[in-house]
Amino acid sequence: MGQKEQTPQQILREVIRLCADCDTCRTMMEEDCAFFIELYRLQDQEQEEEVPITEAQLRYLAELCTLCGLCPCPKVPMDVMEAKSRYIEQEGMPLATRLLNDVPLMARMCGTFPRLAKALQSNRVLGPLLRKATRLHPERQLPSFPKRNFFQWAASKGLDRQRAGDHRVAYFAGCTAGYLFPEIGRSVVEILQRNGATVYVPPQQCCGMPYLVEGDRKRTLQLARDNMERLLETADAGNDLVYSCPTCGFFLKSLLKERAYYSEAYQKSIDADEGMLKIPAPEKGKNKFWSLRKAMYKNILKDDGYFSAIDPMDRVNLAEHLYDFGAYLTRLHAEGRLKTDFAPLPERMAYFAPCHLREQKMGRPYLDLLKLIPELDIEPVGNDYDCCGMGGIFGFKDHFHQKSLDLGGPLMDKIRAHRPQAIVTDCMSCRLQFNHCLPYPVFHPVEVLARAYRVN
Ligand code: SF4
Ligand code: SF4
Repeated sequence: MGQKEQTPQQILREVIRLCADCDTCRTMMEEDCAFFIELYRLQDQEQEEEVPITEAQLRYLAELCTLCGLCPCPKVPMDVMEAKSRYIEQEGMPLATRLLNDVPLMARMCGTFPRLAKALQSNRVLGPLLRKATRLHPERQLPSFPKRNFFQWAASKGLDRQRAGDHRVAYFAGCTAGYLFPEIGRSVVEILQRNGATVYVPPQQCCGMPYLVEGDRKRTLQLARDNMERLLETADAGNDLVYSCPTCGFFLKSLLKERAYYSEAYQKSIDADEGMLKIPAPEKGKNKFWSLRKAMYKNILKDDGYFSAIDPMDRVNLAEHLYDFGAYLTRLHAEGRLKTDFAPLPERMAYFAPCHLREQKMGRPYLDLLKLIPELDIEPVGNDYDCCGMGGIFGFKDHFHQKSLDLGGPLMDKIRAHRPQAIVTDCMSCRLQFNHCLPYPVFHPVEVLARAYRVN
């Protein structure tokens, strides 16, 4: 039976069978992923104790994958997302999840009803009731929504209109810089303008990642299509495209294009020989490919994944035109186009490269850029499998709160041992977790870079 006809339970059963046969992630991910801990617990329950896995246990298992991307096989978490979407198609999306995911809506509500936001944060009677309704854990600190979001600020500066210029850059801010931490968006603009760019903030919506992780297929595809159309139009008009949120980047640049290379349209566009499949091989160099016999792989290497309903050439084009802002600045630096007149910042900071940046396999561009700031003592913390444990909004949920703190525990210990004056990370979900667990201030790298420019 093909996956298209499978129930969510059957898809999850196949994932369990695959990972139980392979067994690699039993030890490799045992401290870093709640999903694998539960998967192997269920497998042992069935095999050793002969207690069958129940439907409720399967449903719970699906909830535990946050699509951090740390595990070795991209197919596994995407199959879990497929199963989650099928569950939601059967059950409908809970209102609490819908609300928590919709950052623009929450920002509007909290802006419109400041007393609601205050009650949620601090009122001893209303707060617990509201938290219960939205299934927020009672001890989880909530971010506050600023009075003026980044998009309102950008519009007040005329950045929502395209203007002429030799070096034009369009910025995809995403929801966290857009609505929760507008100082990040303002820092990106400041850095670009300092380097002579004309900045444009195009119309944009949530990238779609939170909806994908919760299993809302319809909304995920709609957001992906809308953003893609706008961003490709903007690139066609001569703008470079950048993003500052690694999760938006992981979604728009990595996940969307997965399997698009196997499509007929892509194979035609690169003149693949009849009977052969050509797959880009960036590890071999620019414009290099692996060539595979179609007859052998045609049933496995197909554009039949979660995003196959979206034009494969658009997915590839977007991936090729969109840059992580740190990688973009690094490129400018390599071309001798980045101003490096940073003022000294005599401070001790720890840099954490988040999962979704690591998964884009571009190294740690911000770490190299921050090292250009005189007197800044900045060192990386965490290894390739360390995770803050927050998992997007999962750490806010009452049933995931403790797991989230346990998963992030080893990383928090490493940061404490470093005794930094501040933590630097590009992921705002990590920032919320660090704010909850640690006493140090947390910054996005662009805030530190902009400050070092500003002092001068
Ligand atoms: S995710 Fe991949 S490497 Fe890990 S256990 Fe499953 S099949 Fe093996
Ligand atoms: S994507 Fe992350 S949470 Fe999901 S299975 Fe892989 S390691 Fe676990």
